[in-house]
Amino acid sequence: APVLAIESSCDDTACAILAPDGTILAETVLSQSGHIPFGGVVPEIAARAHLAALPGQVRRTLDAAGLPAEALGAVAASTGPGLIGGLIVGAGVGKGLAVALGRPFVAVNHIEAHALTARLPGLVPGGAPFPYLLLLVSGGHCQCIAVEGVGRYRKLGGTIDDAAGEAFDKVAKMLGLGWPGGPAVEALAREGDPAPWPLPRPLHGRPGCDFSFSGLKTAVAQKLAPYDNGALPRPVAAGIAASFQNAVADIVADRVAHALDMMPDATLLVAAGGVAANGALRARLDALARARGLPFAAPPLRLCTDNAVMVGWAAIETMRARHALGLPPVDDLALLPRPRWPLDQMAARFDASAA
Ligand code: ATP
Ligand code: FE
Repeated sequence: APVLAIESSCDDTACAILAPDGTILAETVLSQSGHIPFGGVVPEIAARAHLAALPGQVRRTLDAAGLPAEALGAVAASTGPGLIGGLIVGAGVGKGLAVALGRPFVAVNHIEAHALTARLPGLVPGGAPFPYLLLLVSGGHCQCIAVEGVGRYRKLGGTIDDAAGEAFDKVAKMLGLGWPGGPAVEALAREGDPAPWPLPRPLHGRPGCDFSFSGLKTAVAQKLAPYDNGALPRPVAAGIAASFQNAVADIVADRVAHALDMMPDATLLVAAGGVAANGALRARLDALARARGLPFAAPPLRLCTDNAVMVGWAAIETMRARHALGLPPVDDLALLPRPRWPLDQMAARFDASAA
């Protein structure tokens, strides 16, 4: 029976219904606009907006799928990591629905959901067999993960300061662009000449695959300092945007190259997260994978950023994997939302001795 999934870990209120084979029966996303005047996500506003939107959105998603709630076989929600207020709202609505219907509730790790998205049927030609390397680059996360199986993830490296999307958003702010900054920086970079604005590439060539963006951000601020008290000429802004974007693409490509060295059995490179929408970055990753004889896949934009389809799919993969191991069906009613939920804790769900 179909699974209804809820995503409310940040500023997108999303709901989706998937058939057991992963076919998307309906999906709805509401991107909260209440944060725009603040130039970033305000947790309290986010939680209240999820609360206001979610019940109606669940009903609309059921209507869009043409299904009565009684047709659902399970209800899933991301319960971490993320902003705790929103997670509590999503988990509360999901658990309430599951209890009312007498169906299992599946708590989904948001990062795991990003990690498994590539396995949605039809997304990657030939499927996405394990093991593969996942680059997760979003507003809150920047890491390389070896995806070895459902519940089996190894973090190879991550950012030691800002996430890549955070860097895009901060540079956008410095350039006087709106929020979220990634798409605005990318658009401005298209008309810019990066040559007069050389910028550093922190950690480039270093062993391992950790990321660092704060030195790059500071360097951008220094280039902009002479314009602090006057108008910023558009060619300057565009040139710096282009140079910054090149630097990010260089940094990420170098780090991912190292991650692939650390994971010689990888069969595929997958990028996910909002920054994976960046065309310059995608082109670099595609070239990098091709040079190694590996396919490169990035889910379509709507499945790259926060969405509920990935939550539903992760729930389906979890239920399947437990079934294959002969474990009782998952039911996470007692599991509480968690602002942090490290991926290495997911293996416990498939530990037969703990069941
Ligand atoms: P989380 O980290 O929990 O997934 P999030 O809401 O920040 O949360 P996403 O929705 O996946 O994550 O991504 C949003 C980020 O992606 C923002 O920082 C935004 O600036 C960045 N982004 C979106 N489009 C682009 C783009 N074309 N180029 C660069 N960055 C982009
Ligand atoms: Fe996310």
